[in-house]
Amino acid sequence: MRKSQLLTALFFFLASFQTFSQNLAIKGGWVFDTPSKTFLKNPGLYVKDGVFVNEGESLKDWKTLSFSDEDYILPGLIDLHAHYRVSNGGQAFDDTVAMPKIFLANGITSTFPAGEIEPEKMWDLQEEIDANRRPGPRILHSGPYFGTAAPDWNPEFTELEIRDRVDYWASRGALGFKAKGITKEHLAILIDQAHKHNLTVTGHLDSGFRNSVNPQDAIKLGIDRVEHFLGGDLLVSTISAYNSLKELDPADPRLEEVIQLYIKNGVYFDATLGTYGAIGLVDSPIFGDWANEAQYLTPFSQKVVEAVKPSSFNELCALIYPVKQGTLLRFYDAGGLITVGTDRPLLLDNYLGGGIGGFFIHREMAAMVEIGIPAAEVLYFATQQNAEAFRIDERAGSLSPGKWGDLMIIKGNPIEDINRTRSVHTVVKAGKVFDSKLLLESARGKLGPVE
Ligand SMILES: [Zn+2]
Repeated sequence: MRKSQLLTALFFFLASFQTFSQNLAIKGGWVFDTPSKTFLKNPGLYVKDGVFVNEGESLKDWKTLSFSDEDYILPGLIDLHAHYRVSNGGQAFDDTVAMPKIFLANGITSTFPAGEIEPEKMWDLQEEIDANRRPGPRILHSGPYFGTAAPDWNPEFTELEIRDRVDYWASRGALGFKAKGITKEHLAILIDQAHKHNLTVTGHLDSGFRNSVNPQDAIKLGIDRVEHFLGGDLLVSTISAYNSLKELDPADPRLEEVIQLYIKNGVYFDATLGTYGAIGLVDSPIFGDWANEAQYLTPFSQKVVEAVKPSSFNELCALIYPVKQGTLLRFYDAGGLITVGTDRPLLLDNYLGGGIGGFFIHREMAAMVEIGIPAAEVLYFATQQNAEAFRIDERAGSLSPGKWGDLMIIKGNPIEDINRTRSVHTVVKAGKVFDSKLLLESARGKLGPVE
């Protein structure tokens, strides 16, 4: 297929998300104006056939929602590292029962699962959600991991087998890929083949230790986004990235070189900052449990979680967290492109602190603001910049005509206090209105295995 045909195919796939046709007018409150990154008085928002439109036609038979001056309307959040995975006793599965409701209730209207453990189950879920048979965010499929993180990965895969794997999942509608536990040779093939489909690649990489890939080498291979660590020569290949990171000085002048490499190549960095603070059991209101999240776990899962004791990994993350804070701020100050992802698989018997993916996006945004990134910028990252990084900005990221009718409504101005994003009460996806409280109630006691 030529590139134009591929883009047309992608367009129709994205357009196929619109299956709901309740026309909706939203009046009152304030709206996030993406170009100026400020809130303006709501001039009226209109969603027709699931997409924002300009006013200009009769609103007869339209559903109207009216809000007050305390209500702030933002584009639906996009989570570019949204695990649905739950694991216990060496068994992992993708939770399609409670996770989708919890993501949506928190204002997240689009999720990139960042490596699906059970891709077929995730495709079934997406079809159910898109047909409005169950509530959930849009699923921007990653397909299975590329690398040893995938249960079916074979380190001996040939070049042809990797290209076929890319072609197969792209033909199924994967919208991007994620590498984890991959070698440099295999990553080069993945990037090359994904780009033929005009799809992006991100990676959970390492220092180069034990046949892993350092992000700076991945950038030279053309990777589009990087998760967790910036990489570079400061992460020496003789020890793992985690062990190297805790020693790293964010003020080290040598960090500049790798930051500039990202900027020069337009590569996005998803720091997944908050999860390290949470796993590090950092004492901060950011990591507090404002929503009593244990109530969403099944009784069995609650028991498993309660029995887990802190481990040396918790201590390691406590050391890594301030390093990540410093490097992310430096990356931001230099003009680096930041994306937002939660990275909260629910590892029940390896309890790492900090909560469930859907709620966690509010912690991730607050953690970025705490290091000094302006709240308005962080809101922009979690919406428009994430959409650009994933190349869906024609359809998502702002409240603009032509884009998906996806938004969330909170109480109070989040630019004055980022923690106000936690107050999301109403979510609209493709023009369909959801009450956050009802969504959460229906997820209570449902997350995780029952025995
Ligand atoms: Zn992850």
